[in-house]
Amino acid sequence: MNNESVSKLPRRIDGLSELAYNLWWSWHIEARQLFKALDNPLWKATGHNPVKLLQQIAPYRLVAAAQDPLFLKKYDSVMSDFKDAMSEGNTWFNTKYPHLAQHTIAYFSLEFAIHNSLPLYAGGLGVLAGDYCKESSDLGLPMVGIGFMYPQGYFHQHISADGWQEEFYEQLNFGEAPIRPVLTAEGQPMTVEAPLDMRSVRVNIWQANVGRVKLYLLDTNVEGNSPSDRELSARLYAGDQEMRLQQQIIIGIGGVRVLRALGIEPVIWHANEGYSAFMMLERIRELVVKGLSFPEAADKVRATTVFTIHSLVPGGNDTFSPDLIERYFHRYWDSLRLGRETFLELGRRESDNSAFNMTVLGLRMADYRNGVSQLHGGLCRRTCHSLWPDAEEKEVPIGSVTNGVHVPTWVAPQTASLYEAYLSHDWLKRHDDPTVWEKVLDIPDEGIWATRRWLKNKLISSVKERARGRWAEDHVAPEQALAMGALLDTEVLTIAFCRRFTAYKRASLILNDIGRLKKLLRNEFRPVQIIFAGKAHPDDERGKQLIQEIYNAAKNPEFGGRIAFVEDYDMHMARYLVHGADVWLNTPQPLHEASGTSGQKAALNGVLHLSVLDGWWCEGYNGKNGWAIHGDSETSDSAGQDKVGAEELYRLLEDKVVPLYYDRDINGVPHGWIQVIKEAIRSNAPLFSARRMAKEYTEHMYLPAAQDSQTIQI
Ligand SMILES: *Cc1c(COP(=O)(O)O)cnc(C)c1O
Repeated sequence: MNNESVSKLPRRIDGLSELAYNLWWSWHIEARQLFKALDNPLWKATGHNPVKLLQQIAPYRLVAAAQDPLFLKKYDSVMSDFKDAMSEGNTWFNTKYPHLAQHTIAYFSLEFAIHNSLPLYAGGLGVLAGDYCKESSDLGLPMVGIGFMYPQGYFHQHISADGWQEEFYEQLNFGEAPIRPVLTAEGQPMTVEAPLDMRSVRVNIWQANVGRVKLYLLDTNVEGNSPSDRELSARLYAGDQEMRLQQQIIIGIGGVRVLRALGIEPVIWHANEGYSAFMMLERIRELVVKGLSFPEAADKVRATTVFTIHSLVPGGNDTFSPDLIERYFHRYWDSLRLGRETFLELGRRESDNSAFNMTVLGLRMADYRNGVSQLHGGLCRRTCHSLWPDAEEKEVPIGSVTNGVHVPTWVAPQTASLYEAYLSHDWLKRHDDPTVWEKVLDIPDEGIWATRRWLKNKLISSVKERARGRWAEDHVAPEQALAMGALLDTEVLTIAFCRRFTAYKRASLILNDIGRLKKLLRNEFRPVQIIFAGKAHPDDERGKQLIQEIYNAAKNPEFGGRIAFVEDYDMHMARYLVHGADVWLNTPQPLHEASGTSGQKAALNGVLHLSVLDGWWCEGYNGKNGWAIHGDSETSDSAGQDKVGAEELYRLLEDKVVPLYYDRDINGVPHGWIQVIKEAIRSNAPLFSARRMAKEYTEHMYLPAAQDSQTIQI
């Protein structure tokens, strides 16, 4: 039905419709260019959404394209790549594990960030899930995703004149999104029921295609549901604890029922963060209905369940009061043949008697558990030791798979063409092989520098374009246009700090000593500028105060327009930033960053990482590929930690970063800086790829779980 709203395509190019409905196009440069070539201004106006483009494009353009030999040549080439990518063919997975080709992996996540035309994400967790689906498609992992189809997604951000975050929501028109409703054999929307309190909520299912991977998205805006139930899937991370619990019941329990209704029988079940941990209980319930006892059923479910913990800080994992759990589960626990106390214990730590914790539930109900960097895995073992009181800390059964980023998504086309010219023509196919990257050292410095300058120029133009838009269309105050980056300068060393604004990420650490910062920024010969971007969760007062602090500094003439705050950080803006900055800054409170992935995107493009030695950087930093702040994780007083961290940051900038950047040859090329760029790309790009990550999940988690599934015969 959605298809009919797409303009009737000339037969010669009618494959464009299928291509528009498969987000595969979003990580293939030639496919993106194909849509752009149809109507460049419309491509921009639709926010790079091919479904919308094909709906709105003038028919004569399609007729012309179908007769244009150049366009047709590109079209045929893209369609042939697309066909290859969709075929079962010789994927890495099929070739290596032919006996497991039918072992479907169900991947549950509350967020998926595939492309801005399907805005189902808030930040890092979603980007990771999206990158993972894309890589699973590339490698041929037999995966399906389960998530929510939020019509309003996460909020958009404006900053008011006094620096306060304003949130607004846009309603996504499902007819213009790259999704299709899942229909029954009779052509009716497929509906599944999920239990909530004393009632049942009806859920419709939408399908998005991410290459080979199908993403099934749950939607409670269904006729017959109460008005408040219809709003349940409206927004990500909105509402109170009760609403969050309801959402988590829908994705966990409803998600399993959706897969059953679709006739999909996953062998392996992977929960991305604790939000979807109720899926484990629903699978236990199914087995109890078949006659197993709770412990027998739980053993079977655990053996085929993978649980990834992303955060240990509050907010990253939900806890619910026993009363709330009782209200929603008092009938459900009967069906598990459990009583109130035994049920509540599933989500309780030994140490606290009250709250029901989704991370604890996940840890108890999955045999394969991991943190998202080596350091984080260790912290998880320490924090969760009480769940395994008889084990030594190092034996606590939580491993780690360090996060990585999807290389085709995050590499800039201009960087990619350098790699194509100097690494090898098939570098992208072999990008997790470190030997491919040794040849980065052969790229002429001038080539790297020209690309870096080009990308920085693009970043700064796009930041200024946004500021211009707000000035011209929304009539913001002049000082706001300045705060948004109107005075940025492409010749100046550019530091980017872009991530969620929340206390532990310490966005304002660099403002710790105003005088010293001012000297750095306003140095006459070797100036520095900083671009900030990021949203604070709507309930995070402290996060919003941090934005205000930065924004006020950006408005302050004393800093000379060398601090900018870019509004509404999202995947689209993130691409410009990780491609175009010179330095990627990260200053979390030590031991608080589980992994972090934006720095990996930056390193892939030769943007140098300057970060507290935390998360992935503990594995990524080798002394020659960026800079590390060692900080002070021992002092418990956070003001003390900030002082030590800030001092180290200033010292690195003054003594190392700034001098190296401005040390130029007669043509203005900074050879020393480019050495560090090459070393960053060489050492980080293959290792912190989603491909390395997906292979590790396969080898360390999915294969043993698949083995277990054969021996236990569910
Ligand atoms: C990559 C990315 C993130 C995650 O960045 P961190 O380094 O993990 O904080 C968040 N938001 C967007 C839009 C991203 O692209």
